[in-house]
Amino acid sequence: MLRVTFKKYHGPIKVRDAAMFLLPGYAPPNPPPGEYVTGCDSPGDGDYIWFMAYRIVITCDRTMASDYHGLIFFGFSACLPSGTLPDRLYYPLFCPSGKHDDQGRLLHANCGMRKIEAALLADGFSRDDIVVAHPDCLDRVIGPETRIVSISANDPLGIGPATSTYSELWGGEGRMAIELRRLLRDPAIRRHRPVVVLGGPGAWQLSVDDRKRRQLGIDCVFVGEGEVGGPRLFRRILENGRDGLPAVVTGEPVPVEAIPDIVGGTTIGIIEATRGCARSCSFCVPSVRKVRSRPLENILREVQVNMDAGNTGVILHGEDVLLYRSDGLKVNPDAVVEMFERVYTAPGVRFVGASHAALSSAVSSPQTIERLSRVLELGTVKNPTNYFQVGIETASPKLIGRHMKGKVYPFEPGQWPQVVRDGFKLLHDNHFVGCATVIMGLPGEEREDIEQTTELVKSLRPCQSLVVPLLFSPLQTTRLEYATALKKKDLTAQHYELITACWDHNFAWFPPMWVNYGRDSNPLLRVAMRFVLTHGAKLVKYRIHRDARRHGARV
Ligand code: SF4
Repeated sequence: MLRVTFKKYHGPIKVRDAAMFLLPGYAPPNPPPGEYVTGCDSPGDGDYIWFMAYRIVITCDRTMASDYHGLIFFGFSACLPSGTLPDRLYYPLFCPSGKHDDQGRLLHANCGMRKIEAALLADGFSRDDIVVAHPDCLDRVIGPETRIVSISANDPLGIGPATSTYSELWGGEGRMAIELRRLLRDPAIRRHRPVVVLGGPGAWQLSVDDRKRRQLGIDCVFVGEGEVGGPRLFRRILENGRDGLPAVVTGEPVPVEAIPDIVGGTTIGIIEATRGCARSCSFCVPSVRKVRSRPLENILREVQVNMDAGNTGVILHGEDVLLYRSDGLKVNPDAVVEMFERVYTAPGVRFVGASHAALSSAVSSPQTIERLSRVLELGTVKNPTNYFQVGIETASPKLIGRHMKGKVYPFEPGQWPQVVRDGFKLLHDNHFVGCATVIMGLPGEEREDIEQTTELVKSLRPCQSLVVPLLFSPLQTTRLEYATALKKKDLTAQHYELITACWDHNFAWFPPMWVNYGRDSNPLLRVAMRFVLTHGAKLVKYRIHRDARRHGARV
């Protein structure tokens, strides 16, 4: 049952909120004794007003409550530490507030939040008990009846690889950590003290840091997949509250048939195509997961849900979407092409992108890339380019052999630099932009390993692409969790040369990429970004070169 709660109005109240509280013609059931207001525009001091509270509120920090102007790569700006960009520029430029209705329900939410919502519904929870809410609207959905606030977090302590790299290099604190603290201090949470459960891709950070968990006021951290373990945990909390609640709960891998279809729109239409990765890189969290490909019918149903929710495009998500319905690590070209084609031709869909792909999959099956390019009409005025996030990580066969043999399969570690070059050329020729990472400071790294990677990055200049350098940071729960992180003080001249090579590459490609990438965004944003890319980029480039020279790099 939808819970309706009353409280006395002691203004001032925002007009927007008043419109929500005082829906014309609404008569709340069982009004409390005394006067209350409904159907009028301006409550008086001491009047009763009502609002709805849900037993289970699913939300996220503010950096995740955005559609990023429909530009998925803008989402990564949340990894920039505070101080790099003031809030008054960061939010309008990269992370405008996600749309929500009068009751505070997010129209497009993070895919993980939608999965939990769907799993609870599939498990028999009532629709009226659950809301996926905008973090700025918690006062509209949390009340005395609220038992659980479930928070999805990507990087709750700001120690994920990208955030920690840029906090280490440029100073400041991860924005996602700051925003999570702000969320947890929300007056509605403090007042009603529901059980706070934190899950999502970054939950591992708090699963190993009990002191921080308690400091933040998080009752339970949920790590792993949530579709089976989540509803079980929530029922337990509804029955027993905090009594006997474990600090950390681990969700088991979910069979593909138990992954429910989402029932609401996702951020930029992200839809899960595959889950897990069998390549088992020693530094990566998904290495412990089992790979599953979702049936095409389920994917298409979620496309429809997203179109109904006002999205116009779809991003197919997987750690390597080219392994959709693969035979182990062998690409199944027909299955991949069919998935993209059916999604692209679904009613209402104007574009289809993908999150991650492995260069080894692309190079082992060039026909898949060529066919995808044709199916998605790339290289045309309608769809000039498309994007894949790929991992280079290093050019060193030694480090590949030691840490990520599976990443290069079916190739050998010694072939990796050539696979990267061939992969980037294949993507470029077929109008895909590869957005890659390289990792500095992997255990066992020596001077020549860094130099090989710098040479490789420089050789990629003719291909439209991005290469983001990261400092190695050991993630808990991975095979390298006890390895030593690379800190700024330990960076060598060779590291600075590699960082500079990457950013020179990126600054060369940003302007032409933006012409295609941002062409459908709003005109104000286009103007602002042109300004940032011309003037801001020059400044950042100057500072990167200056830092590199100070540390003895030949740049
Ligand atoms: S290929 Fe990518 S997702 Fe898979 S284990 Fe390696 S880094 Fe992780």
